[in-house]
Amino acid sequence: MTEAEWRSRVEEVAERIARGEVKMHEAERLLGNANAAALARRLALERMLGVGLSSIGSTILDFEELVGRNIENPIGAVQVPVGVAGPLRVLGEYARGDFYIPLATTEGALVASVNRGAKAVTMAGGARTRVLRDGMARAPLLWTPSLEEAVRLVEWVRENMEEVRRAAESTTRHGRLLEVQPFIAGNLVWLRFVYHTGDAMGMNMATIATDAAVRRILEGFPGEARLVAISGNMCTDKKPAATNLILGRGKTVTAEALLPRRVVEETLKTTPEAIDYVAKAKNLLGSAMAGSLGGFNAHAANVVAAIFIATGQDVAQVVESSTTFTWTELRGGDLYISVTMPSLEVGTVGGGTRLPTQREALQLLGAAGGGDPPGSNARKLAEIIAATVLAAELNLLAALARNELARAHRLLGRGEARKTPQPPPAGGREGGEDVR
Ligand code: NAP
Repeated sequence: MTEAEWRSRVEEVAERIARGEVKMHEAERLLGNANAAALARRLALERMLGVGLSSIGSTILDFEELVGRNIENPIGAVQVPVGVAGPLRVLGEYARGDFYIPLATTEGALVASVNRGAKAVTMAGGARTRVLRDGMARAPLLWTPSLEEAVRLVEWVRENMEEVRRAAESTTRHGRLLEVQPFIAGNLVWLRFVYHTGDAMGMNMATIATDAAVRRILEGFPGEARLVAISGNMCTDKKPAATNLILGRGKTVTAEALLPRRVVEETLKTTPEAIDYVAKAKNLLGSAMAGSLGGFNAHAANVVAAIFIATGQDVAQVVESSTTFTWTELRGGDLYISVTMPSLEVGTVGGGTRLPTQREALQLLGAAGGGDPPGSNARKLAEIIAATVLAAELNLLAALARNELARAHRLLGRGEARKTPQPPPAGGREGGEDVR
């Protein structure tokens, strides 16, 4: 087909969509190509709504690769700037070395803030990290007629665990069923299936495996039971919940650093005592006063969201993945700081990690694709994220202790650093002090 013929077919489908004669999702079938379909939908919307969508339409993405896996009805892509912070020294079990952290954000001052925290942590010798637990959960909800039957169902699952495991694991090469955590409320039963999912974040893998396991349970259980929902919200996916906070979901990861007084004073321009006091009064008492559910931190979600966008994670899982407890102690004049993240849901294969820009961001961290052994890349990414959250917490606490937050945002969030002869942002500058 010539270019002109191709263009006229796209125009014709766009016109038919705009007139309401065909549905948006039929464009792929009519044109036989996902990129042409994306263009037809975009042109149709431009005509129907009188808007220009050429920026959304400019993309390197190949929708032939993505439709059926990552997106339906595509019309293009949005772009988010990516900044880099680092080097950040990480001394983990899976992540060891100096890392440059890709942060996709539109919040001015964030990258500079992480950068200064990373500088202080690296000068202090680095952040030590550990993945403490690793398991993705899916919790189907089952109906039974009575409490007695609910208890019998849970017992049957316990007694037939090997059979249930075989059914679940028959659907995947990397997924391993670790345990089933039962919860009963009257006649209703939640079975929280927890899996090792290798380098995948694992939500599809766990759902598919759990579906097979539930079928096996319903075939084998001699009593009366039926599935209400494959996800019964005890999982808990993309909702704030104490379940994840206590039982963990994805990676439970922690990071710590010991900052000599000299590093705090020279790099962060404040004292260990000032940081320790703000951390306790704000992160602990302030969060308790607010009735926070896992938000006992200064701004962990900033880092989690920015790395999630850059590396192709499921951004909606920032809800539970950003749950973070930040802790500080004074150690003979020096500052100890740790962050603990009970439910960090990350992967280096599957989902959005296969998109070209996101894959490059993972390559920047040396954590793209399947690890050797499987699971090691996802754990490496989790350790790097925890170390970055640590750096970001440290810097924001220091900035708050110095009351420089508003100034940093005026300079870097409103562009004033570029308009006036103010000192340049500190993030990339030796001894800088203008960043929150
Ligand atoms: P996935 O892309 O659906 O599955 C991962 C795939 O990678 C599997 O086919 C797995 O094969 C394969 N794989 C190859 N090498 C691997 C390795 N080293 N480690 C692990 N797997 C490897 O991804 P997912 O992580 O299970 O699910 C993520 C997607 O689920 C995201 O797009 C997310 O938005 C979406 N999501 C789904 C739900 C849901 O309820 N289904 C909820 C939230 C989010 P084997 O399975 O044969 O090992």
